Amino acid sequence: MRNTVPRARFGRGIRHEVGTELAALNAGRPLVLATPGQAEMALEIAADLGECAAGIFTMAAMHTPVAVTEEALAHARSVGADSLVAVGGGSTIGLAKALALRADFPQVAIPTTYAGSEATPILGQTENGVKTTLIDKKILPEIILYDPELVVSLPQQMTVSSSLNAVAHAAEALYARERTAASTETALVGLQAFVTGLPNVIADLSDLDARERTLRGAWACGTVLGQVGMALHHKLCHTVGGSFDLPHADVHAVILPHAIHYNSAAVPDLLAPLATLLDGRDPGWALWEFGKRMKAPLALRDLGMEEYQIDRAVEISMRNPYWNPREVTAEGLTAILRNAWAGNPPGA
Ligand code: NAD
Repeated sequence: MRNTVPRARFGRGIRHEVGTELAALNAGRPLVLATPGQAEMALEIAADLGECAAGIFTMAAMHTPVAVTEEALAHARSVGADSLVAVGGGSTIGLAKALALRADFPQVAIPTTYAGSEATPILGQTENGVKTTLIDKKILPEIILYDPELVVSLPQQMTVSSSLNAVAHAAEALYARERTAASTETALVGLQAFVTGLPNVIADLSDLDARERTLRGAWACGTVLGQVGMALHHKLCHTVGGSFDLPHADVHAVILPHAIHYNSAAVPDLLAPLATLLDGRDPGWALWEFGKRMKAPLALRDLGMEEYQIDRAVEISMRNPYWNPREVTAEGLTAILRNAWAGNPPGA
């Protein structure tokens, strides 16, 4: 029987509780998942688990390629795994969710970025260059262990971009069609955690208190992403990031102020709490200023997007209409992407 809401625990060194948590799930042979770059973290977790660990699989990749999932599933079966431990960011957690979808493994997630995927029933998978997204509660992990000691190694730019990826979930939740008083409250908890915590993290990447505060923000932002539907910002990021193979979190960081500025013309009241938290009048400008202070990437051209690709991004986005609080027009999208591409402030 699956939990519909994963249990979340926070604290320095909490990753060492992974064996106890697996035992409580009656899971005796966990496979530890990671990306190639985080193989050492996987080895550390497997060493903690001792002889019961079924092994490690360290081929997790961005956008959950189905071929990697199939390889991981075959590996899990060949080593007799009965459960999963995902240590990493959205890529590794996505792989664990994809495996749980196919084989119903219980999972412990140990997030090392702020993307928030561990708290959502959403899975994006890629096959033959096409990304499809599904929602299924059975892919949620049973337990999430948020350990600030594992996030200190996240480099400065990835720390800021991943934080803004989380902020994007909460910002769009403020005007989501399915929003409730409870979802708005959760979104504001997440936003507050990043607005107050991120400057301290950036001042000292090894500040464990600030890292824990921002991890609590990631949990709130991921949770609210699982409760409501997303709009212009997330759709645009998927189109731009997916079509031109740009880094996921950085694309969120660049586009967020522009998408929020565009929508604030239609729902200024719903976005006012965000502007207030950031001490600004326009939420989009305030986000842009905040990102600049945090040294976030500000221009799609710096991420590798070419100027001529703007028209194509607009065309793909217009082909796939989606709900948004403000009508989405080709002219509006072009203005957003031109400013985001050049690194201009929103509405310039
Ligand atoms: P990621 O998991 O792809 O990690 C990016 C890089 O950072 C990798 O090389 C990884 O090894 C490295 N890394 C991660 N944590 C580290 C740490 N603490 N120290 C050093 N290096 C570290 O990045 P991400 O942005 O967390 O995840 C992106 C993926 O997650 C995308 O595929 C995206 O679609 C997905 N995502 C899904 C949801 C959802 O709800 N389904 C939500 C957000 C993101």
